[in-house]
Amino acid sequence: MPTRDSARTSSGVSEASRLLVRSRRRPAIAALAALCIAAGLAGRPARADDVSYLATDGYFDVSRIDSVNFAIHEPHYWQQNVAYVLKGETRAILFDTGSGTRNMAFIADKVTKKPMTAVASHMHYDHIGSHASFQQVAMIDLPETRAATHDNWYSPPLAKSLGPLTHGFRVTEWWKPGDVIDIGGRKIEIVHIPGHSSDSIALVERASGYAWVGDHLYGGTLLANLPGADLARYLESTRKLLDDFPEIRTVFGAHEKGRLPRESLVALQDALSAIIEHRAQGERIWWLGWMVSRYPFENFTILAAAP
Ligand SMILES: [Zn+2]
Repeated sequence: MPTRDSARTSSGVSEASRLLVRSRRRPAIAALAALCIAAGLAGRPARADDVSYLATDGYFDVSRIDSVNFAIHEPHYWQQNVAYVLKGETRAILFDTGSGTRNMAFIADKVTKKPMTAVASHMHYDHIGSHASFQQVAMIDLPETRAATHDNWYSPPLAKSLGPLTHGFRVTEWWKPGDVIDIGGRKIEIVHIPGHSSDSIALVERASGYAWVGDHLYGGTLLANLPGADLARYLESTRKLLDDFPEIRTVFGAHEKGRLPRESLVALQDALSAIIEHRAQGERIWWLGWMVSRYPFENFTILAAAP
């Protein structure tokens, strides 16, 4: 899995293969490396059809949500990542920096000239791919992210990034769960939403009714099966978003069909409850080398660890 322009495609894959060979005695790491290799090879170029595009550089597409919110799509990447720019009067937030297949810094700079702070929805490799190229990087303040940061440098543990070639980056700011970040005329609340991963966060703006939720929810295949995922916490976090933020009207996710209405959060809450209480009908499938249970619902599918 390449994480920078300098290490992409064939050289990145062969490097990952070498790591796979080296880690034969460590099955968990080998499995993760295999996941990355498979991810890099599984090309699935596609384009979300629910947005109009402002600009493209041939790899990234930029779309305007409204005058102060933008999406940066990676339609040719197999997971169809979507990152978001929230523009305030004094600064901007970039929520996720992509897979790292191409550096996102150049296109992000075209979206706004406001001082930009990158922050990841969570530490999986495909959300922090260009973090190292940003001068201002905020990090969710959790014991686990503090433990992986030394002298302000975050070195992603493989168990958190799931990508053996993921680069570290400098942390310039720590945001605690519950913090409200004022970006100039806009107040953005930081919400810890473990479930997809233990370090997942959402950004919520009560005034607009917008919530950016990373991999917690989008119109596609939601992964509750990866190392660090937890169905009970996934449900608890979904309830927290619904109960603590009645203002939320629109949810923006980090892959595939990113924009969904509040009702999808309710549907996610129902779906997770049904899985946990064994009321949902799942089928066992092989997914990137793992046996998982696949639960199809109306607007999304959930993969969970096979019972
Ligand atoms: Zn993820």
